[in-house]
Amino acid sequence: MTARITNAFTIDVEDYFQVSALAPHFLRTQWESVPCRVERNVDVILGLLDEVDTHATFFTLGWIAERYPEMIRRIGDAGHEVASHGYGHERASSQTRASFLADIRLARMVLEDVAGRAVVGYRAPSFSIGKSNPWAHDCIAEAGYAYSSSVYPIKHDHYGMPDAPRFPYRLDCGLVEVPVSTVRLMGRNWPAGGGGFFRLLPYAVSRWQIERVNREDGRPAIFYFHPWEVDPEQPRVLEASARTRFRHYVNLERTEGRLRRLLRDFSWGRADEIFRDAA
Ligand SMILES: [Zn+2]
Repeated sequence: MTARITNAFTIDVEDYFQVSALAPHFLRTQWESVPCRVERNVDVILGLLDEVDTHATFFTLGWIAERYPEMIRRIGDAGHEVASHGYGHERASSQTRASFLADIRLARMVLEDVAGRAVVGYRAPSFSIGKSNPWAHDCIAEAGYAYSSSVYPIKHDHYGMPDAPRFPYRLDCGLVEVPVSTVRLMGRNWPAGGGGFFRLLPYAVSRWQIERVNREDGRPAIFYFHPWEVDPEQPRVLEASARTRFRHYVNLERTEGRLRRLLRDFSWGRADEIFRDAA
């Protein structure tokens, strides 16, 4: 067990029908009429965190906060960080500068209003900040956030910026970027921060990766997942491609147990507290 370093436990609070890969199957105009699962799933996660008396960061959609204000207050009242995942889960890379700024400003306003707390952290949907849109970081600072966790320094078919720094860094605009964890192996960066890989690969791989970030790099790891990943009962989207279905549904029934182990095997905390003095 590596208990010396406190790692960041982060949750991207969105529902299964808001995930980018399933977006083509749920029009934005249908969101209101799809059965929601997020509240049940967030309560499962709050229970897991409570078992080990641990605090975490919840990067939450403004759209979700407006519909579940009580849930947001439960998150904040339990001592967790309420942070922003934007309002409507549109990738930064598919928006104009003006529409991106409007989205993240609205999300911050809604979240602060509902939570009754300052919101300083932001994570872009699908880690959609890369070489093509460096202006996005300027917008995040302009919207009043202190840090961002929106860059994944890996190669991936949907996202990633393989040349970005692996550890927190300060941008010229004053914003601190806190990249999701990677391990450096065979001359390239490998994803080590959770998401689909946490479900796909055996738990021992994730544990080894986080140990490696803590021991070899001497740094806190940043781990992320979504509420729908603890929900094997969620409605299945049969029209999605085989690849998308595999990525979205593989090992859902194992995630809760794996998260419980992860929470016990390492020390965890809120991103804003861990990276307060970063960069
Ligand atoms: Zn997301």
